[in-house]
Amino acid sequence: MKNNSSNTLKCPLCQSAELDHLFQANDYISLDPFIVYRCACCDLAITKAELADKNISNYYGRGYYGQRKFLVESIINYIRVMAISRLKKFAPSLSLLDVGCGNGTFMMSMRKRGWQAFGTEIAPTGHMRGCAGEFIKLGDFKKSDFSKNSFDVITMWHSLEHVEDPLGYLIEARRVLKDNGALVAEIPNFRSLQARIFRENWFHLDVPRHLFHFSPKSIGILFQKAGLENIIIRRSSLVYGFFGCLQSFLNVLSVKKNLFFDFVNSKVFLSNMYQNNKKDLFINIIFFVPALIASVILFLAETIIGKSGIILALGRKSVK
Ligand SMILES: [Zn+2]
Repeated sequence: MKNNSSNTLKCPLCQSAELDHLFQANDYISLDPFIVYRCACCDLAITKAELADKNISNYYGRGYYGQRKFLVESIINYIRVMAISRLKKFAPSLSLLDVGCGNGTFMMSMRKRGWQAFGTEIAPTGHMRGCAGEFIKLGDFKKSDFSKNSFDVITMWHSLEHVEDPLGYLIEARRVLKDNGALVAEIPNFRSLQARIFRENWFHLDVPRHLFHFSPKSIGILFQKAGLENIIIRRSSLVYGFFGCLQSFLNVLSVKKNLFFDFVNSKVFLSNMYQNNKKDLFINIIFFVPALIASVILFLAETIIGKSGIILALGRKSVK
C-alpha cells in the first residue's frame, strides 16, 4: 500500500479508482499546496503532492520537531499510560513496542510501571530523551527486524497517518505481536465534526506530513486487511480532540496557522511572534477566550454525537 504519485489515481487501500477531489490545503510551515482526495468505496482520504515537492521527507526539516511544554506532555502521557495499563488485566507480565515513539516519554513511563517497553522512531535523535535511547530502535519499523511473537502490546500514537505504507506497518505489527496481543493506534478522525467544519484549516489535517486521513470505516478496513480481529473503534481523546477544536478556530482567524501550537511546543517564543507575526499574535490573544468557549461547545457536541476529532482503534492477533 503506497501513496504513489502517478496520474492514474487509485485508492491504495481498496484499489478503487473512484476518488473524489475534496479540497486544496497548504502546509502551514512551507505554505506549499496539496490536494486531498477521498475514496468513495473505503472512505480513506489521501494527500497528493501534485503541485509541490513529492519528497515528503523534505517537509520534516527545521521547524517541525518541537518539545512540548512539560504540563501538556505530562497530561497526554498520563492519559496514554492509563489507557494501556488497563490492558494489563489480560496477562501478568507485558511487553510493549511503541512504534513512532518520538522522544520516548510514553515508552519510559511504561518501563517505570514494570513493562518491558521498547520503541522505534524514524525521526532524527536530536529531540529524544537521553535515557530513552538505549530502548529505541532507529529507522523504519518495517525494517527493524524484530522476531515474530515478541510483544503483548504495540502502540502507534499518531504515527500511522504519517507512514507511506500503513497496511505494511499493521501487517508487520501483527507478525511481531504475540498470540492474543493487541495493537492500539490513535489517529485523527477525518469524519469528525471538527474536520468537516474546518476542512483545510483543520489542525489535524497537517498536510503533507499526514499522508492519509482515516475515518472509523477506513481504519476498520485497514485493521481487517492486516488480519487483526476483535476490532474496537473508540471516538474520543480529550487533549488532542479539544486542542484540534481550539487551534482550528484560531487558524480560521489568523494568516499564520498553528501559532498557538508552535508556542505550546516551544517552536516559537512570544518575542519572535511579536517581531514576525504581530497582527496574528494580537488576533490570537484577543480571540483566545472566545475560541476557547467555542471549542468547549464543539468538543462536547462532537463527543455526544459520536464524531470526535480523534479515533482510538484496537485490534487483536487471534489464535487460529
Ligand atoms: Zn478505497
